[in-house]
Amino acid sequence: MNIAGNNKNTKILMSVLVGGFIILSACVVICISMIFSVRRSYRNELTEEHRSENETKSVILGHLIMEEGRTVLNASNLLAQHPVNEEKILDAENYGRSQNEYSLIGYTDTVGRVYLDGAPYGEGEDRSLFEALDGLKYGRDMIYAGAAPEMIRQINGSSLLAASPVFFGSSIQGYIFVMIKCSDLMSVDSLAGNERLLVNRRGEIISDAVEDGKAPAPLKLAELLEERSDKSADIRSNISNITSAIGTGKKGIKKMRCADGRMMEVAYTAVDDVDDIFLVTIYNGDDMEKRMRPLLFRSTVACILVSMLMLAAVVYVWVTSSRANLNAEKLAYKDPVTGGYNQHYFREFARQIMDQNKEIPFMICRYDIVNFRFINESYGREKADALLSVCVEDFKKCFEARELAVHINADQFLAILVNDPGMDKRIENYRAAVNADARGIGVRYPIRFKAGYYQVRKQEKNIDVMIDNANAARRMLKGDDKRNRLVYSESIAEDIKKVGQIESQMQKSLAKGEFKVYIQGKWDIVNDCICGGEALVRWVKEDGTIVRPDEFIPLFEKNGFIGSLDFYMLEEVCKRLMDLKNAGKKVYPISVNQSRVLLHNPEYLDNVVDILKKYKVPGELIELEITESVFEEDRENMMAVLNKLKKCGVRLDMDDFGSGYSSLNMLIDVPFDVIKIDRLFFEDKTDNEKSKIILEKTVDIIKAIGMDIICEGVETAEQVEFLRSIGVRYVQGYYYAKPVPGEEFSAKYNI
Ligand code: C2E
Ligand code: CA
Ligand code: CA
Repeated sequence: MNIAGNNKNTKILMSVLVGGFIILSACVVICISMIFSVRRSYRNELTEEHRSENETKSVILGHLIMEEGRTVLNASNLLAQHPVNEEKILDAENYGRSQNEYSLIGYTDTVGRVYLDGAPYGEGEDRSLFEALDGLKYGRDMIYAGAAPEMIRQINGSSLLAASPVFFGSSIQGYIFVMIKCSDLMSVDSLAGNERLLVNRRGEIISDAVEDGKAPAPLKLAELLEERSDKSADIRSNISNITSAIGTGKKGIKKMRCADGRMMEVAYTAVDDVDDIFLVTIYNGDDMEKRMRPLLFRSTVACILVSMLMLAAVVYVWVTSSRANLNAEKLAYKDPVTGGYNQHYFREFARQIMDQNKEIPFMICRYDIVNFRFINESYGREKADALLSVCVEDFKKCFEARELAVHINADQFLAILVNDPGMDKRIENYRAAVNADARGIGVRYPIRFKAGYYQVRKQEKNIDVMIDNANAARRMLKGDDKRNRLVYSESIAEDIKKVGQIESQMQKSLAKGEFKVYIQGKWDIVNDCICGGEALVRWVKEDGTIVRPDEFIPLFEKNGFIGSLDFYMLEEVCKRLMDLKNAGKKVYPISVNQSRVLLHNPEYLDNVVDILKKYKVPGELIELEITESVFEEDRENMMAVLNKLKKCGVRLDMDDFGSGYSSLNMLIDVPFDVIKIDRLFFEDKTDNEKSKIILEKTVDIIKAIGMDIICEGVETAEQVEFLRSIGVRYVQGYYYAKPVPGEEFSAKYNI
């Protein structure tokens, strides 16, 4: 059955689990978004790096080209203001070569002669190169640096040119120039790496002419990019943004997606000091990915680790809390002795089962094992505990799923039963099963249960009241009761009320002297005279009602008040005897009943001695009546106590001999002076003759071992005659005297 508490715990566990997984998922989501944001910011960083790298490279490039510009300027200054001749041209070219070993330096004049590397170039005169150079735009310091005109590209394929006019006076007599191959420039160390292109303002890629001197058809940057891109509309607009930015001389960087899905970046910057030339660097996705990979790998590993740690934390919390829950449940619902459920579980169970089966009549039962203490002492605690487990286990076998028994404490059990016609049969089977299994574990003592039942009424809810009522019924059964079950009823409720009243009054009543000493005379039937008396308590209430001891002694024995009462009675009797003695009256021994509960009190002996001393009562005037049942428990100790009492000089009287399981053996061990034979012997029996024989022989034995005999409960002359005939001398009973108040007793017998 699912118990409410269980559900609650499972709910808590589930919320721990769900909460844990929500946190874990949040953590995973955060980790993933972290990875993406790291990737994004690293990308941005890379973009920034690419932008500035392209700018730096464009400065370097500008610087390299302008170096050529300055070379031609210096060379032109060498030639200026003199009529140029072949020798001078050679000097100037030599100068240029000394500055730059890999570019091709040349000169052309107005006539159309061309010198290249110090030698005349071409056949005859051709002014077209002069005119092409003349058409270029020279800056303030008379340098042109930039894309080469078609003519130059035809000469050696160079796509870049630095040129400067050579003046004579204020007129130009020729141009000196350096042809620079774009491919040479780009292979310079400081520009190497990545794909770099030079682009003019029209967006055409400036490239060297091929071997045969023919310039390739100018490839447009836009076309190149478009070819590589995924050709989406976005990309197209990006490309047109790049070309228009170049057209207006702006610099920048743009991202675009390649056909293979990777990203590429295109950075563009005007080359410093060089007209109309832009450096474009294409950073491809592969390189960027390669650079990002270690970082992404590290952050992914970190995220996975964090997630794993979180998962481990969730699992740990789950495992520990479910373990704690299990332990808590064990503590909350398990009985440590039997391993079965405990009464907390029982309450939840009973509540639910009654709720779910409103039409079924239930019984709540509180039961215990008769004489469990004996089993405990004889077989040891281990076996006694095993017996308790047997009781719980066998219940499961003999009863239905709707029925349950739990161990509460000591030998106490609590059960809920279905009150149907089969209930008695199940109880009987249970008792038989427990007895069989008890023998199985080596407990041969017959197991009997004492059970109080409470019939649950419809709509009744309070389990605690039901349990209390069942327990009240159980407590009404005494250990030696022939009955072993009792169903709670109104009369029990009444009795409980009475008990409550008695308990609330007893203390005060004792103080007020409401407990009175009554004395019943003992008779010497040989001399036909009084020979003593037995003190019997009566509770005389303020209103005059007299309560007999049977109504309160068992209760006082249970609640411990008997100790106070018995000492009170002993003291009262001692006082009386001494008062009488002091008054010169004749005194006879008076016997006082001593509860067996009292004898187990370690201070008992001292208290008795104190009282006797206090009133200076000679021991032989006091007889202590003790029932044989004191030997049921702790026999050795009881014998020691009795022997000590005997040494104090008091007489010991074994009360109610023959009422229980008397053993004649006991007479040997125990130092009794008088054996008081119980009135049971005189009750009408099926076979009176046999009883008489037994009584006669018992009397013989007791007399033979030197003990006195007194027979109580003697009511008729025939009984007296019979007792006389078998040699009994002392009797006590209504035939001679009824218990009367102490004063009345003294007055009547003048003692
Ligand atoms: P008990 O010690 O066996 O006392 C004898 C009981 O038998 C007394 O009942 C007495 O009134 C009754 N009785 C005497 N003669 C006859 C008779 O001929 N016929 C019948 N039917 N009964 C007779 P009582 O006074 O009601 O006492 C009952 C029991 O209460 C006592 O049984 C004793 O066990 C206990 N008791 C009485 N006073 C004290 C006391 O001061 N301390 C303790 N511990 N127990 C006491
Ligand atoms: Ca007695
Ligand atoms: Ca008696």
